[in-house]
Amino acid sequence: YFVVFEGGDGSGKSTQVNAVCRWLESQGRETVRTREPGGTELAERIRELLLDPRHAPVDSVTEALLFAAARSTHVRTVISPALERGAVVVSDRFLDSSLAYQGVGRDLGEDWVSTINDRAVNGTLPDLTVVLDLPVDEARRRRETREQAAAGTTDRIEAEGEDFQHRLREVFLRRASAAPERYLVLDARASVEDLTAQIQQRIAHDLDH
Ligand code: C5P
Repeated sequence: YFVVFEGGDGSGKSTQVNAVCRWLESQGRETVRTREPGGTELAERIRELLLDPRHAPVDSVTEALLFAAARSTHVRTVISPALERGAVVVSDRFLDSSLAYQGVGRDLGEDWVSTINDRAVNGTLPDLTVVLDLPVDEARRRRETREQAAAGTTDRIEAEGEDFQHRLREVFLRRASAAPERYLVLDARASVEDLTAQIQQRIAHDLDH
């Protein structure tokens, strides 16, 4: 069973990924917690190259190919083997992030991004994608609070502007409404506990069927 968390920055993905993994483990399930970009040594190095502001910015086509390369090794060395032995895999971001950030955010087109990722995902698609949906102004408020706490850090997204955020959000919501049986869209303004409970309920239901 493969579950992915998607959503903009500050939507609370990592908190929910943690909570859900702890819960799955308490149920005695082998649980593999992972993230994208990243999840393997090579993919984490690609992540560093892509996200570290000290590296020179790269054009968006190269960037999309690097995200796809990271995903390819992640799927082949971590996700597929874990699913094959019956583990539950929980990933912080996956393919939909590329369709949103590279396809729409960077204007490369969802079709092309989908094409280059086809061999990368190699048929391994999430059974469930949890979208933590946050209105753009609320995301900004959360970012500001976080930046006050860690003065001096600049989020990558800071440079992108709010129109970019709106477009990302639309992609996640559109994909979810096209395949509602494989998505759970939650209002990320709800309390942490409330969100965790809803996610657990859905996963428990899926695992029983
Ligand atoms: O999920 P996390 O916040 O760790 O992602 C780090 C950053 O990577 C995000 O802020 C986002 O800007 C960027 N990203 C991206 N394209 C992806 C996935 C993540 O630009 N496909």
